[in-house]
Amino acid sequence: MFAIKYGAGEGRVKQPVDMSSRLSESGYRLTPQRLMVVRAVEEADSHISAEEIYLQIRARYPHMNISTVYRTLELLSGLGLVTETDMGDGRVRYHSIGKGHHHHLVCQKCGEIIDVEESMLSPLWSEIGQRYGFKVDMKHLAFFGLCAKCRG
Ligand SMILES: [Zn+2]
Ligand SMILES: [Zn+2]
Repeated sequence: MFAIKYGAGEGRVKQPVDMSSRLSESGYRLTPQRLMVVRAVEEADSHISAEEIYLQIRARYPHMNISTVYRTLELLSGLGLVTETDMGDGRVRYHSIGKGHHHHLVCQKCGEIIDVEESMLSPLWSEIGQRYGFKVDMKHLAFFGLCAKCRG
């Protein structure tokens, strides 16, 4: 279903997040459309784009509108329930924060994506903070390059 392959992310800390109750706790109505978007993000094995969510929902519910998908994702992202990252192919991908804090190594040749745990990079952020007094916004990053196979 995805053109991009995701590497192993088994080592990740997962904290289940009930996005729909968080939405209603924040005062948002749980419309069927919103719930369908929430479910698509929750059920995605990995990262999912707005376009993929839209196609998935529209297969069962032809009245779905892509702008509703975008608006719901913005809402979830504003509440900190999903994170988004640009994997370099022009499509932003989303995943539930329940998948744990991580980053990605994206191979520009074959599209392989390897997950990197935040703990590997956090020493770098503190080093940058000490050296430059700069606080890195280390949300969900993609690093581009060549994977071991493609380096040959
Ligand atoms: Zn990710
Ligand atoms: Zn590669």
